[in-house]
Amino acid sequence: MTIKKAMLLFFSFLLCLGVVQTTASATGANAELKLGVNDKLSGITAVSVKGSYYVPLRALAAELKWTITGLPDGIQVDGGGRKLLLLKGNGGAQLQDRTTAPMNTFVKNGTLMVQLKISAYLGYIISFEPDKYLLRVRDASAALDDAAFLSQYKSELHPSTTPAKPSQTPAGKPGKTLYMTFDDGPSATTSELLDILDKYGVKATFFMLGPNMNRYPAEVKRIVKEGNGLGLHGMTHRKDKFYASPSAALAEMSGDNAVLQKIAGTGTTLIRPPYGSKPYFTKSFRDKVLVQGYHLWDWNVDSDDWKYKENSAKIYNTVMNQVHGLQKSKTNPVVLMHDQKATLKVLPRLLESLKKEGYTFEIITKDLQPLNFWKDHR
Ligand SMILES: [Zn+2]
Repeated sequence: MTIKKAMLLFFSFLLCLGVVQTTASATGANAELKLGVNDKLSGITAVSVKGSYYVPLRALAAELKWTITGLPDGIQVDGGGRKLLLLKGNGGAQLQDRTTAPMNTFVKNGTLMVQLKISAYLGYIISFEPDKYLLRVRDASAALDDAAFLSQYKSELHPSTTPAKPSQTPAGKPGKTLYMTFDDGPSATTSELLDILDKYGVKATFFMLGPNMNRYPAEVKRIVKEGNGLGLHGMTHRKDKFYASPSAALAEMSGDNAVLQKIAGTGTTLIRPPYGSKPYFTKSFRDKVLVQGYHLWDWNVDSDDWKYKENSAKIYNTVMNQVHGLQKSKTNPVVLMHDQKATLKVLPRLLESLKKEGYTFEIITKDLQPLNFWKDHR
């Protein structure tokens, strides 16, 4: 083996190492890092997606004086004395020696984002020290070593130390956070329902009835223990009793909360009146109940699972159609289902599809703006 060949191999090894390190460490907390370019801190923010850092190609090219040329096969990038071709359709990067290396791109707000390792393919050195918030690209023109660079930009590299304000908006993409809710439980099949949620890593919110909690206390405890959301659904589930008067409705919710408190050692302020809040849960009811600190939650996706029972296809289509309908307005779905045996049949398929479509699942908490048919945001 010639020395030149050995050097090349060694260099490829380093390159791999760099890439591997980037991938492994990027799973940490740094979703974004300010990019250092040679001896200065650029205005470029590198964004971590699935364990890899991406930067806007045009901005990086401007910093490093690269030339970008559009060709029929893709985009040619000349820089650092080398060139490569970003093949169309995420086909990777064709390097100067005609080999193809993996390279992902995506478009964000009209800007082409490329993996930062594109600079390594052009012969630059990438430094990455996540615990110091260092992400830097350099070539032979850089005078500072990483330690000197770090000491010069320490305060600017560090993300703001003031904690983010609690927000009512979930962290995920707009419209892609989904709240599964199960009414009328717990039941004889709650543990199977929890097994399915567990399998898919999904948490849901349970609006439970007092008498059913008394009947299935172990299920209540497991719902709580596994981090699911807790809500109240009343005691009788009878229209004539629950809606007899505002005081009757409040008594049902307080009684329900007392049962939850007794079994789980914790209460909740989330409520969902039986059959939903419209038309019966009128202003006089809401004034009476919500002034006690309760938050009223209905839904915007109705599975009708109580009606279709074993007809899983029908339930599946009903949910998916409504979920897709909400995408236009980027509205987060709140899906109404029931803690019943028939629902178990459709649930895995539903969760699988929703996950595939990029939905993340959250529980309802008292800090979210309540979604209800009256638009009562108390
Ligand atoms: Zn119900």
